[in-house]
Amino acid sequence: MGLKIKGMCLNCEDTMVFPFGGARLNFSTTQEVLAINHKSMTYETVNFLNDYYKKDHWLYTDERLKDKNVLTDELDFFDKIEHGEMVLNKRNNFCLKCHENELNFMVVGCFD
Ligand SMILES: [Zn+2]
Repeated sequence: MGLKIKGMCLNCEDTMVFPFGGARLNFSTTQEVLAINHKSMTYETVNFLNDYYKKDHWLYTDERLKDKNVLTDELDFFDKIEHGEMVLNKRNNFCLKCHENELNFMVVGCFD
């Protein structure tokens, strides 16, 4: 079962909803996560299990889009969203619109 995540920036109030993880039937081949395409500077959802994204995308599971002062390993269970190997920090992620580390994520549903 995958999760639906809502992102909301506390600084500029930009919002987005994206799938996180994979559904039951394709869990082993598709694990979706939000990313920034740094060529077009847009948000895109990519498959964590494929390599194609590595050239043009930064994933929100990457430390580079998380607050430099907050290491995911030091966060407790309630401050992160985990799905398989992927981990999102709930707070202080990089916002593409205002370039502040004010993008927060919350689980708003799931898909199967
Ligand atoms: Zn923002």
